Amino acid sequence: MIPGRVRIAIAIDGPASSGKGTVARFVAARLGYSYVDTGALYRGVGLALMRAGMDPTDAEAATEMASKLAFRFEWREGSLRVAVNGVDESEAIRGEAVGRAASAVAVHPGVRSALLQTQRDLGARGGVVMDGRDIGTVVLPNAQLKVYLDASLDERARRRHAEAPGVALEEVRRQLAARDQQDSGRATAPLKLAEDAEYVDTTGRSVEEVVQQVIALARERGA
Ligand code: C5P
Repeated sequence: MIPGRVRIAIAIDGPASSGKGTVARFVAARLGYSYVDTGALYRGVGLALMRAGMDPTDAEAATEMASKLAFRFEWREGSLRVAVNGVDESEAIRGEAVGRAASAVAVHPGVRSALLQTQRDLGARGGVVMDGRDIGTVVLPNAQLKVYLDASLDERARRRHAEAPGVALEEVRRQLAARDQQDSGRATAPLKLAEDAEYVDTTGRSVEEVVQQVIALARERGA
C-alpha cells in the first residue's frame, strides 16, 4: 500500500446491466482491493429454489433456503468464482431466469437478513468494492465512497442483449423494466440513491471513462 493511503470500502449500487459488475471489478483490480458481487448471493438462493422445484415468491421457503446456504468467493485465473455449499456455481447463476428468481427472493425481509451478515463480514476490513442494490443504504452505510451507477433502459437492454443474443431485444428490455420495478418498488431495502452517493450515468460512456471517474472519487477519499 502507498504510505498515507487507506484501504476504503466502496459501495456501488444501481439497476441491472448498469455496468456495476464490470466497473467494480476493474476498480478493485486497479486499487488492489477485493471485489464482492452481492447479486451472486441472491442468485444462489434463487437457483437453489429453482432446482428444488420451489417457488421463489414463497417467503418461508426462500428464507429457510437462504439460511442453509454458505457462500465462498474466490479468484481463480483472473475471474471471480462463487461456491454455494462448496459447489462452484459461477456459470449456473448467470442466466436471466436466475436473475428473475433472485429478484423475487430479494423481496423477502427474511432472505435479506439471512444474507446481511455474510455481506458485512466481507466488507468489514475495507479494501473492498462491493456491488448490489442496497450496499450504500443498508449493507455498508459507512462506506467511504458510495456510487450509484445508472444508464438508460435502452442502453442497458442493448448491453444485456449483446451478452446473450438468444432473446429478442424488445423482450430483454421488458424483462429489465420488470426487474427494475420489482427492485425499486419493494418495501425492504429497495434500490435507491443513497443521500451521500455519487450519481454516475454511464449511458454512452466507455467502461474506461467510468472506471477512471470512480478511481478519482476513491482517491479523493484517501484510497
Ligand atoms: O446484480 P444482479 O443482477 O446479479 O442481482 C440479482 C438480483 O438480486 C437483483 O435483481 C436484486 O433483486 C437482488 N439483489 C438485491 N440486493 C443486492 C444485490 C442483488 O436485492 N445487494
